[in-house]
Amino acid sequence: MINIKNREQQDGIRRSSDILSQVFEKIDTMITPGVSTMDVDRVVEETIRKAGGVPAFLNYDGFPASVCASVNEQVIHGIPNEKPLKEGDIVGCDIGVLLDGYYSDACKTFGVGPISPAAQKLMDVTKKSLDAAIAVCVPGNRIKDIGKAVTKVVEPHDYGIVYSFCGHGVGINLHEDPQIPNYYPSRGLNPRLKPGMVIAIEPMVNEGTADVDMLDDGWTVVTGDGLLSAHFEHTILIGDKGPQVLTSWRFG
Ligand code: MG
Repeated sequence: MINIKNREQQDGIRRSSDILSQVFEKIDTMITPGVSTMDVDRVVEETIRKAGGVPAFLNYDGFPASVCASVNEQVIHGIPNEKPLKEGDIVGCDIGVLLDGYYSDACKTFGVGPISPAAQKLMDVTKKSLDAAIAVCVPGNRIKDIGKAVTKVVEPHDYGIVYSFCGHGVGINLHEDPQIPNYYPSRGLNPRLKPGMVIAIEPMVNEGTADVDMLDDGWTVVTGDGLLSAHFEHTILIGDKGPQVLTSWRFG
């Protein structure tokens, strides 16, 4: 069942998203060579709690941290550790906030110091695919228009769009209906987008194969060929006239 959020619920999700945007502003300048993903995790948790929220990923299904920090060939659900990031790494920071019963969810992939042109291009194309996906979030369009928009941007570059994980409804729960595939064609229902729906769109794009594996930790998803992966996500409200992007990581 797809929750249509009333005004009060929309406002709650907006406030949750505002905290998440503050978190991204905070970590934007700290992700540099020598910093560890555990350092990032500490700042994420502290910033969320100081603002009165709760890290939504911490203990979710047993996940042990506030940020999913996925480095290089890691696609999603990377567990923070004390290993220093090094120049040229890319790191996806996926973060959720729970505030007064309302969830928000966003991810940005950061370059650590100067990165290779290939890594920059992968990040740029993935980000562009998210922008294209957001642009079609107009009432009357359908869920599969989102994956179609992502695919149109990514396909000419011969990258792999991860098909094992999807975007999702968000707000009252961290993960709600509908599921939102990032690729097209895709199976499943294809409901229309309606005002009051809140969704998290999150294309994950691999430099090589779209296939993924899971590490023995039971969480970390990695590319099947060890090449890089990038991931960007926003929480979006379907407004009467079009999309309202509730989260922000435009800093830097
Ligand atoms: Mg998400």
